[in-house]
Amino acid sequence: MSTATVLIVEDEPGIADILQITLRFHGFTTYTAADCAGALAAARAHSPDLVLLDVMLPDGTGWQVCRELRAGREDPAVIFLTARDAPSDVLGGLALGGDDYITKPFNVDEVVARVRAVLRRTRGAAAPAQRVLVHGDVELNEDTFTVRRAGRPVELTPTEFNLLRHLMRNPERILTKEELLRQVWSFDSAVESTVVETYISYLRRKLDPLGSPLIETRRGVGYGLREVA
Ligand code: CA
Repeated sequence: MSTATVLIVEDEPGIADILQITLRFHGFTTYTAADCAGALAAARAHSPDLVLLDVMLPDGTGWQVCRELRAGREDPAVIFLTARDAPSDVLGGLALGGDDYITKPFNVDEVVARVRAVLRRTRGAAAPAQRVLVHGDVELNEDTFTVRRAGRPVELTPTEFNLLRHLMRNPERILTKEELLRQVWSFDSAVESTVVETYISYLRRKLDPLGSPLIETRRGVGYGLREVA
């Protein structure tokens, strides 16, 4: 699969980390920069397909970076990250060559969807293809965040979806509670480890009525998907 490269330009480390972890999880190659100078150096070094560009940076603005990128040989797609949603700013950014903008605070899943949409529009095949994970009669679409079992839609909360996605990405393995906590609840250190059991039971309650039992409990170890008959 061809992967697209995304340069994340953001001076708040927490936001940069979340974007980086999420985009990598979705198969993108990522680099980060925390200011205008770093952004231009990283763009030259890595030729990103797309730049997620914070507007307010310590040594200037994302608008300036965008103008320089457009003037140079590299011509990445640009999505501005802006805390300022005033129409004049947004229009200004788009006029300066931005392909889209996202207003903070944002939902990371929305960022991934917007990155894919812009890449499809600007780069065609460079965007990772829409991905559907299949296990037996369960289908999970990572782009549309929908799940079907035996052709019937299953409504899941974002956490339930992420938990099921992690299980479906690792169909051959038993995943420990610690691993699931790290992968699914990584940004919330306050959660109790019993939350995994709770959410596994939610998933079973929603998925098992539509088919055979899906999730296996390996006592003292963790959880995995049952083999498909
Ligand atoms: Ca900033």
